[in-house]
Amino acid sequence: MNKSKVAIIRCMDYDTENVYVAIKKGIELIGGIKQFCSEGEKILLKPNVIAGKPPEKAVTTHPAVFEGIVKILLENKINVYYGDSPGYDSPISGLKKSGLFDIAQKYNITLGDFDKGRNIVFQEGKFAKEFNIVNAVFECDGIISLPKMKTHQLARITGAIKNQFGCICGFNKALYHVKIPNGENFCKALVDLNNYLKPRLFIMDGIIAMEGNGPSSGDPIRMNVIIVSNDPVALDATFCRMVDINPEYIAANVYGKEYGLGTYVTDQIDFFGDPIENFINKKFKVIRKPIRGKTTLKVFRPIEKILARRPVINSKLCLKCGICVEECPVDKKAVNFRNGKNNPPNFDYNLCIRCYCCQEVCPHKAINVKTPFLGKILGV
Ligand code: SF4
Ligand code: SF4
Repeated sequence: MNKSKVAIIRCMDYDTENVYVAIKKGIELIGGIKQFCSEGEKILLKPNVIAGKPPEKAVTTHPAVFEGIVKILLENKINVYYGDSPGYDSPISGLKKSGLFDIAQKYNITLGDFDKGRNIVFQEGKFAKEFNIVNAVFECDGIISLPKMKTHQLARITGAIKNQFGCICGFNKALYHVKIPNGENFCKALVDLNNYLKPRLFIMDGIIAMEGNGPSSGDPIRMNVIIVSNDPVALDATFCRMVDINPEYIAANVYGKEYGLGTYVTDQIDFFGDPIENFINKKFKVIRKPIRGKTTLKVFRPIEKILARRPVINSKLCLKCGICVEECPVDKKAVNFRNGKNNPPNFDYNLCIRCYCCQEVCPHKAINVKTPFLGKILGV
């Protein structure tokens, strides 16, 4: 069996030339760009543009990383397409606010269609067999994924595997959470999605990562690294090891291995570049436990939903914009203006499926995910 390949490259800043050199070195160490794409092909670059935020917020893939790979592809006479489908915002608005649109204009590359998509059937899927995929995927011969190194409240981390969720069309993303409310099953579907899309190469922007209340309300933290891989599971496992979280706590890694997407087992990965030990940050703020344990005390099972981790609104930060209400995928709205629009929205935790879409889209960092005191004691 061929081993997966991961290149770890130190990169201390977003200077365009430094980032370009780091990405080029990473790709060369795992076989060179010609291993992944050929002259004349159309390649879709899929950055993480979960929301339209400026680069310094560390929410989105940095424009310098985007520019680095654009240059490499153009030098190799590859036709470059790009795009993403943010959770709340139009694709074009998200790309403009994150600085990627300007880079695309500079190099005259093509914006893929992330507004519309089509349903596909994927019989080989182990858990999910149908997806609504954006048209951009069908316009191109292959995908290069450009994830951002960040925390995530549902999946713990968001990296190479999760980045492809942006290839699901618009509001269908939120509806997936309703169809698949269980976090572990959601990760199985993500792995199936990756097995369908099969991106050829993954380049993670970990120069300034996000810790804490990610993926859009956390804090930027310097990790000074670009990680390049042909295997999204191996890449995400490398990210896990850097921030001292057991890769097996990430359900997408576990099912990624089980469903043949890749491997998190160190012996099955060839590492290149800088030693991982140089990047380990044990203080990186991330939840270091599996997705959601069950209380061992059966008597509490009926009220587990009340005890479990849940989104909470900080009324001092909330500007009552209503975006969280709009984005809540539950029909009856688990978050809503139950006390009128002059007050912050509040939650019905019995309706809430813990998808954390509200926390992801809140533009004012007003939603945190917290475990109630009793839930902590009971390990819910
Ligand atoms: S919690 Fe955030 S998204 Fe919801 S109304 Fe308040 S500011 Fe808007
Ligand atoms: S309230 Fe938030 S976490 Fe709960 S279902 Fe709605 S969007 Fe998801």
